[in-house]
Amino acid sequence: MDSLHSGLKAKSFDKKGKTIEARYCYSTGKLATKGCPKTAVAVYIPGTVPEHCPSHGGGGTPATSGTTSAATTTPAA
Ligand SMILES: [Zn+2]
Repeated sequence: MDSLHSGLKAKSFDKKGKTIEARYCYSTGKLATKGCPKTAVAVYIPGTVPEHCPSHGGGGTPATSGTTSAATTTPAA
C-alpha cells in the first residue's frame, strides 16, 4: 500500500505579505538617503521599514565637514 503521496509536501507556506528591498545607511541602520556615504541593501517586511537616515541629509543640512552642533549654545554674557 504505497500511495503516490510521498514527496508532495503541503505547499501552503505561511508567508503572509511580501518583502521589500531597501537600501539602508551603513552607519545608522536607517533608510539611506542621498547623503549617506555608505549604504547596503536589506530585505524588510512591510511595516518594519525604518525611517530615513537623520544623520545624512535627513534634516536638509549636509554636514560633511564641520560640526554644527553649537546652534543653541548661548554663552552667558
Ligand atoms: Zn546615513
